[in-house]
Amino acid sequence: MSRIDLSHISLNYNLDGHAVPVLHELDLSIESGEMVAILGPSGSGKSTLLYILGCLLKPSAGSYRLGGSEILGLSEIELAELRNRHFGFVFQQFHLLPRANLVQNLLLGTRYNRWDQRSKAEFTERALSLLKQVGMETHLRHRPHQLSGGQQQRVAIARALINDPALILADEPTGNLDSKSAKQVLDLLRSINENNGKTVIIITHDQEVARRCDRVISVLDGKIVGGKTMVGAPLAKAPRLEPPRSVFRPRLEEDCKTAWQNILRNKSRSFLTMLGVIIGVAAVLSTITLGTFTREKILETYESLGVNRLVIRAYPRWNLSATEATGAKFEGVDEVHDVGPLRRLFSEILLISPVVNDWVRSVAFAGRKVDSPRVVGVNSEYFAITNRHVILGRPFSSFHIKNRSSVCLLGFDIAKKLFGQRSPLDQLVAIESNNEARYSCRVLGVLESQKSNSEWNDPNKQLLVPESFLLVMGDHWNAKPYELNIKMQPGTSIENLSEKIKQFFHIKYGRSAQVSVDSDEVLVAQMRRFLSLFTVMLTGVALISLAVGGIGIANMMLVSVAERFKEIGLRKALGARDDEIRNQFLIEAMILCGLAGMIGIVTGICGYHLVLFFASKLFPQVKFELVFNLSAILLAFLCIVAVGLLSGLIPALRAQKLQVVEALRSE
Ligand code: ADP
Ligand code: MG
Repeated sequence: MSRIDLSHISLNYNLDGHAVPVLHELDLSIESGEMVAILGPSGSGKSTLLYILGCLLKPSAGSYRLGGSEILGLSEIELAELRNRHFGFVFQQFHLLPRANLVQNLLLGTRYNRWDQRSKAEFTERALSLLKQVGMETHLRHRPHQLSGGQQQRVAIARALINDPALILADEPTGNLDSKSAKQVLDLLRSINENNGKTVIIITHDQEVARRCDRVISVLDGKIVGGKTMVGAPLAKAPRLEPPRSVFRPRLEEDCKTAWQNILRNKSRSFLTMLGVIIGVAAVLSTITLGTFTREKILETYESLGVNRLVIRAYPRWNLSATEATGAKFEGVDEVHDVGPLRRLFSEILLISPVVNDWVRSVAFAGRKVDSPRVVGVNSEYFAITNRHVILGRPFSSFHIKNRSSVCLLGFDIAKKLFGQRSPLDQLVAIESNNEARYSCRVLGVLESQKSNSEWNDPNKQLLVPESFLLVMGDHWNAKPYELNIKMQPGTSIENLSEKIKQFFHIKYGRSAQVSVDSDEVLVAQMRRFLSLFTVMLTGVALISLAVGGIGIANMMLVSVAERFKEIGLRKALGARDDEIRNQFLIEAMILCGLAGMIGIVTGICGYHLVLFFASKLFPQVKFELVFNLSAILLAFLCIVAVGLLSGLIPALRAQKLQVVEALRSE
């Protein structure tokens, strides 16, 4: 049942905001199996009428019943289905896909067929037999441009038949043909009507063509002026068209194939467009990787000096006025009254050592002497706090601290100067302090040489002694513990802990103590922040270049949509749904972007390894190593997907919204 009933169909085109009436209250009925010509001069509205008949254009008013069912209220998706199932279109300009061979051209219609159970192989079989029926079986692998106009039109007719529709709508099918070809095409349409029982509606301005049809409907200025119009009796009730049974056809693979063909079609254009994304992705990947790599390297150097280390300096306030006097007066950090409570109060403190500094006149052994070394009083935890290693002998134990043992560890330079090749272990060194007091210490060990940029406090010219010992023996004016070295639990906030320790001193000593906090960690934290900021900034620049690449892709896709207006229109006429058209262009952008992105990732990885390689040749401090930053690669990957989606979106929406009629009319 494919009887057509149009009643009171009107159509207005919208021209610059004005409604231009083209069809006026048309009534028209066409019986199933008729061969009808719609005849009229150019501009009378014939094509517009055909587009309405083919559900490519919605009339402004009126009613359209197909097989007795009203179809004007159907959704876009249902209309697409309807076109695919019930209509075969033949156009004046043939509208064959120029880059596909004849079989592929025929199969295009089956791509949007969601109701026929036939397999692709069966459809191919059908395409071959249809091409045979239209006399084109010898040209199967030809491209349309290798055929004459008449041959192309015969292929177009075969394509119209591929889904076995009940109605064939032909818009000036002979308009571009010579008279011999025109006759062949008309014969073909005639036989399709007679042998296959299809309704054939031919639009024409040619009396000759009209004469070959059973019935002629004349149109003039949007009105039907001649021919018998058989207005069907209104049906008692208009049954809905049966909803199509959906057949799942995986379209992704075909879409990918089409996308790939379109990319290859214009190789240099595709490559240049992709280059933007390649550079952008490579830049994002290498800036992040190199940024984090150098940051880790720089921080490693700093952290070798002692991780999570905090230095508290507390001095008595010498100019404290009488009215400000507090209960406890601060005179130096005390093991029992300060270190013990701090240890108990703050679980963040892992290790803690008071540090007493005493400048002495000399340290001597067997006639050899080192002038003005520094004697540093510490406890047994100091070594782990500051990452100082003993290369010979052993460090202090808590036994030495408790017993104020007169033992010492020699800085590397002192040991070398006093003992040369001899072992200093268990020897006694003599220390002369500035107030001419003398005392001696037994050497427990030698400290590892440590680099320093501090001239006044060279660690290799230090002499470590137990802090408890120095408090007894040292210069009583200088040698007071004014410094605490702390190793914090990993993950402790330095700012937080130092604030709490400051508060501890404030509550205990009021204004009699001046407390300051000094930490390499603060510096490292600042450094880390700066380096991260730097990486983020560079990555930002790289992302901008990636965005520019994305704009390039969007631009190319827009051009591609414009170039393929007709193809889009044709696909829609063949039953493609708007969302399928959108997805096709999105997939194309994604493939373009994905390909460029993959090349970009490889380029980026090669690129930053090259940078590292040359850096290692130029700067001896830099060692070449293979670096793979998984999160950077992942981020690059995410960027690719985002750019692909975003750059494809505008062109895809543009293609989706394209009106079929507009697309088919475009030149
Ligand atoms: P025919 O096929 O009989 O030559 P058409 O159906 O193509 O006629 O066009 C009928 C009238 O509608 C013409 O006057 C044409 O200028 C007008 N028309 C067609 N398309 C549009 C459009 N998109 N916007 C405005 N006017 C249009
Ligand atoms: Mg026309």
